[in-house]
Amino acid sequence: MSTFKDLLSDMVAANRILASQGVCDAFGHISVRNPDNPNAYLLSCARAPQLVEREDIMEFALDGTPMHGDTRKPFLERFIHGALYAERADVHCVIHSHSRSVIPFTVTPAQLRPVVHSCATIGHAVPVWDAQTSFGDTNLLIANEAMGRDFASVMGEGNSALMRGHGSTVVGASIREAVYTAVYLEVNASLQIAASGLGPITFLTEGEVEIIQSRLADAKPGEGYDRAWEYWCRQAGVEPCQPGGEG
Ligand SMILES: [Zn+2]
Repeated sequence: MSTFKDLLSDMVAANRILASQGVCDAFGHISVRNPDNPNAYLLSCARAPQLVEREDIMEFALDGTPMHGDTRKPFLERFIHGALYAERADVHCVIHSHSRSVIPFTVTPAQLRPVVHSCATIGHAVPVWDAQTSFGDTNLLIANEAMGRDFASVMGEGNSALMRGHGSTVVGASIREAVYTAVYLEVNASLQIAASGLGPITFLTEGEVEIIQSRLADAKPGEGYDRAWEYWCRQAGVEPCQPGGEG
């Protein structure tokens, strides 16, 4: 049975993994929906993911307002998280990053699509949100609810979306699933760039993506997302909770 204590431990572990796997550097963030209150989410105060401790984790209403009178500095781009939780009842974890290999796909016509089976959870084709389309000249960051909602509409029902000249965001039904997709979004981008120099690419078909996604969703404890999670925890120097512990 998962507990709130396990959830906070997994949040800290997820932050360390995202830093260790090169998804986040000094910037980027991960949130989880509060399992006891679907209209709230947990997200650390503004600091580099590698440094996040459980005491840093704050709680926010879906409109981005800090709860419990918390006055610590929040992430400016927390509106990404609230908008996705508001729009998507199936989403329980959101990860935003500026990981480098995806950026070329935000500023060129090349579309990010899965080239290897392990990257199928990114979705058959990854959409790109451009702040310019609805908001004109901005600093490209999602700094209010309107921008968050606009971004969520571009992601639609998918697991990932890119932001032009900025970065990417992935979602999942659990922390482990979202971390998996965030790591493999970056891996796929790097492999797709490498493959594109060799000739025309044969991408996974839509049917292949669906089969792989359902196999992962049906994986037993210790398999799939859990197996990757345990490995990445060790690489990041944190002790993993039991498989499925974060619920
Ligand atoms: Zn950002």
